[in-house]
Amino acid sequence: MEKLITHPIIKELLDRYKIIWSLSHVASLAHWDLQTYMPKQGATARGEALSKVASLSQKLFLDNDFVSLIEKAERESGLNEYERAIIRLLKRALKYYQKLPKEFIEEFTKVTNQARVVWEEAKEKSEFSIFEPYLQKIIELCRKKAEYLGYKEHPYDALLDDYEEGLTTKEAEEFFNSIKERIISLVKYIKNSPRFKHEHPLEHESYEVEAMKQFIKKLLDYIHHNPENLRIDSAAHPFSMAVGPGDHRITTRYLGKDFKNTYSSTIHEYGHALYDMQCHNDLCYTPIWGGSSLIIHESQSRFWENLIGRSKEFMNLFYKEIHKTGIPDKHTLEDFYEYLNLVRPSPIRTEADEVTYHLHILIRFEIEKEIMEGKINARDIPEIWKNKYKSYLGIEPKNHKEGSLQDVHWSEGMIGYFPTYSFGTALSIMWKNSLERDIGKITELIKTKEGVAQVKEWLRNKIHQYGSTFIFKDLVRKICGEDFNAKYLLNYLETKYKNIY
Ligand code: MG
Repeated sequence: MEKLITHPIIKELLDRYKIIWSLSHVASLAHWDLQTYMPKQGATARGEALSKVASLSQKLFLDNDFVSLIEKAERESGLNEYERAIIRLLKRALKYYQKLPKEFIEEFTKVTNQARVVWEEAKEKSEFSIFEPYLQKIIELCRKKAEYLGYKEHPYDALLDDYEEGLTTKEAEEFFNSIKERIISLVKYIKNSPRFKHEHPLEHESYEVEAMKQFIKKLLDYIHHNPENLRIDSAAHPFSMAVGPGDHRITTRYLGKDFKNTYSSTIHEYGHALYDMQCHNDLCYTPIWGGSSLIIHESQSRFWENLIGRSKEFMNLFYKEIHKTGIPDKHTLEDFYEYLNLVRPSPIRTEADEVTYHLHILIRFEIEKEIMEGKINARDIPEIWKNKYKSYLGIEPKNHKEGSLQDVHWSEGMIGYFPTYSFGTALSIMWKNSLERDIGKITELIKTKEGVAQVKEWLRNKIHQYGSTFIFKDLVRKICGEDFNAKYLLNYLETKYKNIY
């Protein structure tokens, strides 16, 4: 097969980049271990080692010869789109290192490391006041970060772009404004339906953990045909990690009841892993290997979690197996379908259903935007949080733990990350429509292993093989033939849930 990377200057650049790649490879493994099997007391030493590895990588990036080589390559004509993308991503990393002063990065790291620990305690005790001074410090640092990085229209642009290349406040605002009223009224419609339930009996059914592990293995065997490049472990917070080509790892957790936690997060993380796994081999060891767009990544995990995992057709393949985990067989396929698609306003984002999920993100987006406009400070957040939940979801958090202390993101300095969750979910519906135009209905295809392979092949050809070659907006235009928009998400949610409720 024709090689994707051919230009000598890019090959030279990649040769030098390989050491940076190697550092990030071993750092990923150290991170994975930290989140799965490392004894707790190893945390300090691991933190120390990882921060040194990060500084070393920064030093290599800023090496004069390396920078000149990037600049020389940039002036080169006749690069193909993969080669240009490699330069684009190297320049992006360089911009980050060049624009943020070393002292700033050190302070940001120090504050967020402390804040992360304080946040855990504050959440545990449900006391906002413990976290407030740290959050205020993070807010100030994020405002500074935006000034250092620079922006055209809105300081929040700088932070959004940091997580999603090219995403602007204006685009995020347009998206959230277009979904706000229709999702709020869909939630009202559902709450007024005679079929509305505050809870489902399957939430309370317990299962045997070992049997559930066997079940999850069977499920993965069905959708993934190569056990040699993927492993699954347990972790407190499920995640997916591409350690390197041929080495993909996902985690899930087993709570002993309410099995949809384990079921959905496994399929979700598998969707993330598959994206990296099906990247073109020629892109290995380059900065564009695997996905760097959080929106495209989330579109893949949501595609599998919602469009496949939550479908009746997929559940039909597995629900009898679930009975073997100790969940009583009185529960029918209809029960499982209802359980997986139960819509109910609740205070916790990570437990939210497909419909109310976007309101959780919308609330965080509105707060973050005003933080960056200087209109909101840390002390204002709990009150604003409460009012927004009341007005959009019709509920009030009982305490700070299920209010503004629930998410880890802000404690880690991640302001600007949340919008990618909603965008990614909306994008998954656009992929679904394109795929169905090309090869037929997903819910029919997934009834057989061959059909699953066809779905994966479509994703590989249209999305995965490119890795990070395209920014999300360009990839959407290329594959879907139109700009990213919220229309299909809204149609999908209204059609599906007005049918269920
Ligand atoms: Mg995800």
